[in-house]
Amino acid sequence: MNVQEARSLGTAADEPSEPFFLDRSSFVQWTSVVAAAAAAEAEDVDRQARFPKAAIDAARQQKLLGVQIPRAFGGHGASIFDVTDMCYTLGRACASTAMIFAMHQTKVACLVRHGTGSEWHERLMRRVAAEQMLLASSTTEGQNGGNIRFSTAAVEHAGTEISLVRNATVISYGAQADGIVTIARRANDAAGSDQVLLAITKDNYTLEQSLAWETLGMRGTCSAGFELKFKGTAEQIFPESYDKIHAQTMTPVAHLCWSSAWAGIAAAAVDRAQAFIRKAARGAGGQMPPGAAHFTAARMTLTKLRAVITANLDAYAAHEHDERALSSLDFQSQINLLKVQASELAVETVMHAMRACGLSGYRNDGDFSVDRHLRDVLSAPIMINNDRILANIATASLMSAVPATLRD
Ligand SMILES: Cc1cc2nc3c(=O)[nH]c(=O)nc-3n(C[C@H](O)[C@H](O)[C@H](O)COP(=O)(O)OP(=O)(O)OC[C@H]3O[C@@H](n4cnc5c(N)ncnc54)[C@H](O)[C@@H]3O)c2cc1C
Repeated sequence: MNVQEARSLGTAADEPSEPFFLDRSSFVQWTSVVAAAAAAEAEDVDRQARFPKAAIDAARQQKLLGVQIPRAFGGHGASIFDVTDMCYTLGRACASTAMIFAMHQTKVACLVRHGTGSEWHERLMRRVAAEQMLLASSTTEGQNGGNIRFSTAAVEHAGTEISLVRNATVISYGAQADGIVTIARRANDAAGSDQVLLAITKDNYTLEQSLAWETLGMRGTCSAGFELKFKGTAEQIFPESYDKIHAQTMTPVAHLCWSSAWAGIAAAAVDRAQAFIRKAARGAGGQMPPGAAHFTAARMTLTKLRAVITANLDAYAAHEHDERALSSLDFQSQINLLKVQASELAVETVMHAMRACGLSGYRNDGDFSVDRHLRDVLSAPIMINNDRILANIATASLMSAVPATLRD
């Protein structure tokens, strides 16, 4: 058993009550069923800008929505390695399905890591596993853009009852989700950066659509804007403050899962470019078409992209339970830069793939069209804008030493 497999089969906190043997290849098999459903409807999902219902239904049937929940709470205790592999596989089939899955798994990771020990959140974990609930994310608010570490809407407290009204500019699959994990200001008199994280379920909130989702790509994520109104109980607030959850879980897991989904899109474009170059070479008696160099470049950037993701996966997994290491300036810079690098490399890869295919790639139809991949992957640099991340990291980068050796 290798390190990844050992991690995948559970940690001490995830001890099964009785012997349980899960072959990791089960995850691969379950994911391939979902990927097949996603691929079958990908074009229509994109064209109609509709939710990928068949794919998410298949994910429910294969129990993938609760796969990360510890076995003690009814899930399979899948590791970050397993989940990112799933994001990659789904990204090859349908970008919107992969991104929905990536966002859901990020919320589940917060629940697992920061909800264990809280009765309300443990109950929700059991529900996610048993009912295969789909969790959405609400961080973007008003005109705040990707400034997640600042909230305007505050939790109102009335004894143990709480309420929240939020101008949620974007909630992907908000209308289809069974619950939302949202940030908010701790209380009316709290600073914008004094935030909490809440898990809320469909029975205690309403959504009124305020903005449509008519976009270039990622059309199936159905990321409309909503006025979110919630009434519930104080126990729905995660015990730890959001700044810790943000650093230790939300950012690393989001960036790893998103990057894996984008790498999947890039891989799908490379697949098409390879098929095109092969066909062109066959048709020319083995003579390589002029676009072949772009195909090689696409392979090269895909290799770089995968290497960046796997290096960051190893770094995260090595410190997954070490709060200090995860909160360190170096790790935070690295995991934020992963998002920037992965998104740029994914776009570069798809661009090379399109140029390898030439007009056949540029077309909206045909077996070698890279149109959907390009439109979908262009969301990557703006999903928490890379400029914002680079500007935010500037000070931290100035403070950390330039490595003196190659491997440090
Ligand atoms: C496919 C997709 C799905 C999404 N799903 C969700 C979801 O489910 N829930 C959710 O809450 N949000 C979601 N979002 C929104 C996302 O989390 C970000 O909030 C959003 O992408 C920020 O967009 P923005 O460009 O308006 O904002 P900003 O980040 O504010 O950027 C606006 C402009 O300002 C510039 N800028 C901002 N800050 C700086 C800076 N410091 N230095 C230099 N330039 C700067 C940027 O370059 C950019 O041009 C989604 C986004 C996408 C693309």
